[in-house]
Amino acid sequence: MTTSLSFDVHSPATGALVGSYPSHDESAVEAAVDRAHGAATWWRTVGFDERARRLDRWRAEITRGRDELARIMSEEMGKPRSDAALEIVMALEHLKWAARNAKDVLGPRSVTPSLLTVNQACRVEYRPFGVVGVIGPWNYPVFTPLGSISFALAAGNTVVFKPSEYTPGVGVWLAEAFARAVPEQPVLQVITGGGETGAALCRSRVGKIGFTGSTETGKRVMAACAQRLTPVLMECGGKDALIVDADADLAAAADAALWGGMANAGQTCLGVERVYVHTDVYDKFLTELLDQARDLRAGTGTAKIGPITMPKQLAVIHRHIEDAIARGGRALLGGPEAIDGQFVQPTILVDVPHDAAAVVEETFGPTLVVTRVASMDEAIERVNDSEYGLGATVFARRDGDAIADRIESGATSINAFVAHATIPALPLGGVGASGFGRVHGPDGLREFTYAKATTRQRFSSPLALTTFTRSAGIDTVVDRLVSVLHGRIG
Ligand code: NAD
Repeated sequence: MTTSLSFDVHSPATGALVGSYPSHDESAVEAAVDRAHGAATWWRTVGFDERARRLDRWRAEITRGRDELARIMSEEMGKPRSDAALEIVMALEHLKWAARNAKDVLGPRSVTPSLLTVNQACRVEYRPFGVVGVIGPWNYPVFTPLGSISFALAAGNTVVFKPSEYTPGVGVWLAEAFARAVPEQPVLQVITGGGETGAALCRSRVGKIGFTGSTETGKRVMAACAQRLTPVLMECGGKDALIVDADADLAAAADAALWGGMANAGQTCLGVERVYVHTDVYDKFLTELLDQARDLRAGTGTAKIGPITMPKQLAVIHRHIEDAIARGGRALLGGPEAIDGQFVQPTILVDVPHDAAAVVEETFGPTLVVTRVASMDEAIERVNDSEYGLGATVFARRDGDAIADRIESGATSINAFVAHATIPALPLGGVGASGFGRVHGPDGLREFTYAKATTRQRFSSPLALTTFTRSAGIDTVVDRLVSVLHGRIG
């Protein structure tokens, strides 16, 4: 590949240099996409069964190398090694599901025609676009891009992957493991670089872009893709909430709020950033939450919370905490002084106004805003009063389903945090500013295909409609039929 420049990756925990990668320019990106087109026919025509075998081999490669992959992930973006290992397990589950189910979901199936077209044999199948471009974030650098890559590959596309500039080594490792499983053709390639490399991929001859990242970048990706009318999958930001009803298991709800808000240093698209608690159990819940949070620390070594990966995010977290406190909020844990270099200690805020930045904007730090609500109606209203709609969590014994059904989000998990994202057969994605389109499950497979309909005329219809030879008699019959078929309603 031709490149103009390179860039360095530094450990967010120590600042140490952990790698240097090429910044692939427009021509390098186009060359990769050309090679991907060259491999696309082969990959499509090997068929579902052979693709599944190859994807299984890749899964085995990742499994055997998972310690090394977890190490790279941890070095590049800072999450604890055990969290990195867990992320890989989740990604493997989805990869297996995509390989196993692509044929059933996407393969040809016959469809029943209507009465007027009974002479036609009909079938539909879901065809790959050819080449899919995947642009990934750094916060879950294996799980998140593989949500697109695994499903796009299983559907028969070749893939050019642009990992985040914070985690290029993870992307390169995944592509090298793939090349060991599929050495014949460049079915999965990685291009490295920053936003400009991603933008070049959007302008290239890919059949679809699967984007995961912030809502603001998503808008730029859509604008670039509009030039060629390239379809896009948008997996963007969130401001997810957790609701605690009066009859909830408070210990479990506090555990979920803490993990959901603080794990990965709060840098989770589906992370809990807002908690709405029924007034009857508000004080008890807070006591439980603070009790559980007592020993939770951000740091290196055995600390369960790592550093903030992007230096620029520290200013956002600081602004959200300061603004909340300036407007009457209180920090029951942490606060502005929780920010110490690249680490942010867990911060729990209460009494924060509903229009404060910490309630409205994505914070992407280990902070929780806990709010008392008079009823579940109020909780639902507050949860839905957001431009985002990625996921949500409900803790309730009696009314969990009823509450979940009223939440406007891509998914809701009841009595467990983020369970829906870990189940391979369930779709994952958002509404509103959280994006559109789905990864995972049957929807995630169809996302990387287009529907192709085929009909075959089995015999000439006595009611030949689409011809200039159609007679007045046929028009009369059709007119009568229409009354019978559609005019007797109501
Ligand atoms: P980001 O938007 O800064 O970057 C995402 C990717 O886009 C990177 O690879 C980046 O290099 C690339 N990029 C930047 N400018 C571009 C351009 N003009 N054209 C094409 N590509 C460009 O996001 P991030 O900081 O890497 O990730 C964090 C964000 O991702 C958060 O908002 C988080 O909520 C979101 N996220 C969403 C999901 C989901 O499933 N919905 C999952 C993980 C992360």
